[in-house]
Amino acid sequence: MVTIAGIRTWVLRAGEESVPVQVDTVAIRNSDGRLSYRIGTVRDITSSKQAENSLRESEARLRCLIEMSSDFYWESDSVHRLIVRTESKREVQESVFLTASSVGKRRWEIPYLSPDEAGWHKHRATLDAHLPFRNFEITRLRQNGAEHHISISGDPVFSAVGEFVGYRGVGADITERKQSEQRINELAFYDQLTGLPNRTLMLDRLKQALTASYRSGGHGALLMIDLDHFKTLNDTLGHDVGDSLLKEVAQRLSMCVREGDTVARLGGDEFVAVLTGLSGTKDEAATGVKSVAEKILGSFRQPYQLGDVAHHSTASIGVTLFNGDTVDIDTLMKQADLAMYKSKASGRNLVRFFDPTMEVALKEHAAMENDLRLALKRDQFVLHYQAQVASEQQLTGAEVLVRWQHPTRGVVSPADFIPLAEETGLILPLGRWVLDTVCTQLTVWASRPEMAHLTVAVNVSAHQFRQPDFVDQVLEVLKHTSANPQRLKLELTESLLVANVTEVIEKMHLLKAKGVGFSLDDFGTGYSSLTYLKRLPLDQLKIDQSFVRDVLTDPNDASIARTIIALAQNLGLGVIAEGVETDAQREFLAHSGCHAFQGYLFSRPIPLEEFEQFAQRAHDA
Ligand code: C2E
Ligand code: CA
Ligand code: CA
Repeated sequence: MVTIAGIRTWVLRAGEESVPVQVDTVAIRNSDGRLSYRIGTVRDITSSKQAENSLRESEARLRCLIEMSSDFYWESDSVHRLIVRTESKREVQESVFLTASSVGKRRWEIPYLSPDEAGWHKHRATLDAHLPFRNFEITRLRQNGAEHHISISGDPVFSAVGEFVGYRGVGADITERKQSEQRINELAFYDQLTGLPNRTLMLDRLKQALTASYRSGGHGALLMIDLDHFKTLNDTLGHDVGDSLLKEVAQRLSMCVREGDTVARLGGDEFVAVLTGLSGTKDEAATGVKSVAEKILGSFRQPYQLGDVAHHSTASIGVTLFNGDTVDIDTLMKQADLAMYKSKASGRNLVRFFDPTMEVALKEHAAMENDLRLALKRDQFVLHYQAQVASEQQLTGAEVLVRWQHPTRGVVSPADFIPLAEETGLILPLGRWVLDTVCTQLTVWASRPEMAHLTVAVNVSAHQFRQPDFVDQVLEVLKHTSANPQRLKLELTESLLVANVTEVIEKMHLLKAKGVGFSLDDFGTGYSSLTYLKRLPLDQLKIDQSFVRDVLTDPNDASIARTIIALAQNLGLGVIAEGVETDAQREFLAHSGCHAFQGYLFSRPIPLEEFEQFAQRAHDA
């Protein structure tokens, strides 16, 4: 009787050496069942033992790798259903992903945030073509609501006979990397205070908007929005309050535009809006933008609750339109900026559209301003004298009118640079220089019989007169030039009387006490009220040349001229008419009771030497 006794594995030892062996034996028994003898084979199984060990070890290694890294391993079947999906360390810790719920599903059947439809479509095409893929990124929502980003790579698997059986691959948790990328992106492209796009991102969007408008033929618009008097608020209420206001402004601004439009903060209190998809016709586009801009101004005007106090703020908006033509971004920004400044200059809380004349004016203005700063130092100003006469052609004095001898422009009229000098404050040193030069001249003339009796009228800007030390300045000049104050007449304009009349009157009295005279220039064009006129220590009213010009043809002007003359007589003041060009005008005025004149009829404003000759002739006559 033969029975198979068994297969046993033995380890045979011989001294130091040990060898794993497999022993297969067969037992041969007697008829009574007792073991008679065994036969068998002994096989050295060292190599298969080693293979088994190394497999176990490599599995352990893999497990360790997967458990301790942010990576995971996965397999899918021939129809792309997941059959194996390990969990990364992070997934285990944060229990973000339930392997159980994903197994059996295709990746796009598990809820995701990205990629979009197109992204999945492309990925599925790769899978269906059984091609390897690398770093395919998927974003899903974690149970705690945070985003979870993974990146997977896979290779197709084929059976021994070349049949596609599925995919296997690895995946990595890239959430941290994505988060830091997002953070870097935020820092680079968003304003940290308001969360709005910053200048860099805005410029990029503007570029896109330009291209889009070029393609569609529709208009786009760039709005430059600057808060009015923000600096004052910031300085008086502190930066925290300033910051709160800016945040609130950012929110209101965002509410006023459509989705797809961009609102950005350039820094400080400067904001920008890029509007797209406006009408193809310029007028319609402009109307559309105008209503958005008005909406913005309206929403800004609502009071701001900053802490305990309600604050009021307004903004000035400059707009420029584009429709993909050749304009570049720099130019657009400049145009919107210019329009914004125009809106500020026109009184704030306004919308202004860019127009090309602004550019020309700005260039001129900037160049002039620069030159004007140097003009005093370079001695480019000269004074011209225009005769003032009494009835019988008798010379009584002159009005001094400043001229700018510009090295390239030639003689620039004060009408062109006085407003600029006032705006920049240069009128102060300039005005002082005029006064100084005139007083020096008066002293020279004092010793010349044909000149000594002449009075010189000097124009004084309101800005200049309002200086707290104006009186002291005049007195000081009179003193150091030793000029006779009786020969000096200051021409003031009615604009001076808009504010602080009491102070003006006080100053006039102080100078008047020294003998200085006063004439009210351009009379009839401004604000003078009779009450003020009575209180002002004036010597003379000067009928504005605009009334003189048409005094013979326009009955209205004639009546104004006559009224001014009567008024002066009533107040006990002298009266002089300027801009007298014809005999007929002079006769009309004389007939109405005005006996002092100035105008081309007698003399144009002329340089000093010519005027001195003119005075000599008048003296000799
Ligand atoms: P304004 O004080 O009204 O000066 C009279 C202006 O009328 C002068 O222009 C003069 O040249 C011009 N004019 C005089 N007679 C006639 C005439 O018969 N017909 C016509 N069509 N015009 C006549 P100008 O010299 O160009 O001065 C313009 C303005 O500049 C002055 O107006 C004055 O407001 C300002 N200005 C001139 N010099 C000074 C100055 O030294 N200081 C200040 N603050 N302003 C000055
Ligand atoms: Ca004048
Ligand atoms: Ca005048």
